Amino acid sequence: MSDAITGGCQCGAVRYECTEEPVFAGHCQCTNCQKFSGTGHASNMLFSKAAFSTTGDTSTYEYQADSGNTLTRHFCPKCGSPVYGTTDANVDAVMIRAGGLDDPSIFEANFALYSESAQAWDTIDPSIKSFPGMPPKK
Ligand SMILES: [Zn+2]
Ligand SMILES: [Zn+2]
Repeated sequence: MSDAITGGCQCGAVRYECTEEPVFAGHCQCTNCQKFSGTGHASNMLFSKAAFSTTGDTSTYEYQADSGNTLTRHFCPKCGSPVYGTTDANVDAVMIRAGGLDDPSIFEANFALYSESAQAWDTIDPSIKSFPGMPPKK
């Protein structure tokens, strides 16, 4: 890949850069993602932490996911935008939100999670593979 994938928060105080393609990308309609996206779902991309760097300070908020894993949200203390997330289940990965990318059009969802908690007004493209919760473990 020639160009790094870049993005940041709304006010510009926090910026990030990733030098590798995402490991995967997908929508999540779980109730946590509804709460902190403020809408029907989050559109996430997972990157290898080794290829990911940020500038600017973030505030953090930790919570426990359905899986029992601890997730940490890193957000801009000034404008509140979600910047990235980490989980103790996979310390080598970071998750970012497609809307924070400088070019959100590069986002291509491979799947959608937690359709069982989806809102009737939040319809995901039916051609994308959808799971009622987390995908079954391989
Ligand atoms: Zn900001
Ligand atoms: Zn979610």
